[in-house]
Amino acid sequence: MSPGEAPLPARFYPAGGDAHGHPARLAWDGGMLLVQPEDSPALRVPASQLRIEPRGFNHSQWAIAWAGEEGATHTHLLIVDDARIAPLRAAAPALFAAGDTTRRHSHRRFRVGIVLLAAIPLAFVGALLLSVEPLAERLVDHIPPGVEQQIGEAVLAHTRAAGPMITEGPAFDALQAIGKRLARPGEVLHFHLAARPELNAFAAPGGIVVVHSALMAGAGSAEEVAGVLAHEIAHVELRHSLRQIVKSAGLRIILTGLSGDYAPLGGWAAQLGELKFSRDAERAADARGLERLKEARIDPMGMLRFFETLAVNTPSGPALLSTHPATAERIDSLKAAIAAAPGAPAQSIGIDWEPVKNDLNGPPGK
Ligand SMILES: [Zn+2]
Repeated sequence: MSPGEAPLPARFYPAGGDAHGHPARLAWDGGMLLVQPEDSPALRVPASQLRIEPRGFNHSQWAIAWAGEEGATHTHLLIVDDARIAPLRAAAPALFAAGDTTRRHSHRRFRVGIVLLAAIPLAFVGALLLSVEPLAERLVDHIPPGVEQQIGEAVLAHTRAAGPMITEGPAFDALQAIGKRLARPGEVLHFHLAARPELNAFAAPGGIVVVHSALMAGAGSAEEVAGVLAHEIAHVELRHSLRQIVKSAGLRIILTGLSGDYAPLGGWAAQLGELKFSRDAERAADARGLERLKEARIDPMGMLRFFETLAVNTPSGPALLSTHPATAERIDSLKAAIAAAPGAPAQSIGIDWEPVKNDLNGPPGK
């Protein structure tokens, strides 16, 4: 990507600035990233200062961060769609290689840790410990709902500490209304809105669903958000988060289970951050989510549209799909499931989406 080529679009979150983000264009010029925000002076950042990592729902975005003038506590942040990142990747492959290496190392450290964890108590408990995973799996079914709630609260406290939450206004109200429409009678679910620039949503144990403001701002309708929520609620329902936390806790879960004191699990869970589920878990959550949408008489095409917005509606099209096979597969299964059983006629959620978008993006022109 030389300065002569088309600059790539991004959203710019200046250090210490507001949470809305400003449209910006990026170019690469002789080892420097040239950031041209629409409403502030251009910045030139040397490659050596940049940190690049994947972000968001389905890893559909990249975060590019570097220290602000105020020092290390404040960082500038750019969010770029995965489909747009190719020119930068081509111009500065080393930046991405570093991120990949970090990821490989952390995986290796994790594996070494697991081996050590398993090796030490092996002498004491022998073969029992060879089946940590099945044991953890079985333990999940015995964790009482009250404890699940505590673990969820610990994860939520972690989210609150990490950044601002939105607790009123049109977007918050819309989230609550969509959540209420999706909840079954007697079901207790909590929907939280976090002011964050990544297109993301996640489920925590105890019926807690956290939605990032960028996801609501990036959606085209309440039905699209309902699709994401239905998927996340399914993760809660299937206890995927809890299961993943228990598995990640490894052997300490056995001690926890033996002692009957689950409190340390909450602290452990809070440290884990965002959880990654298996492809099977994602498929199961899609199917369950779809059932819930039909039950609530919400148009399932919203769910499909949002996934397509994330994966397909990009200039690179199939190239992106080849790097996100799970997404393409999920879209195909969703399409097939909707076609096979369309369900009763949908009733509109009836939320005008423009005010919600304006609430999150700031007044037009900002
Ligand atoms: Zn999921």
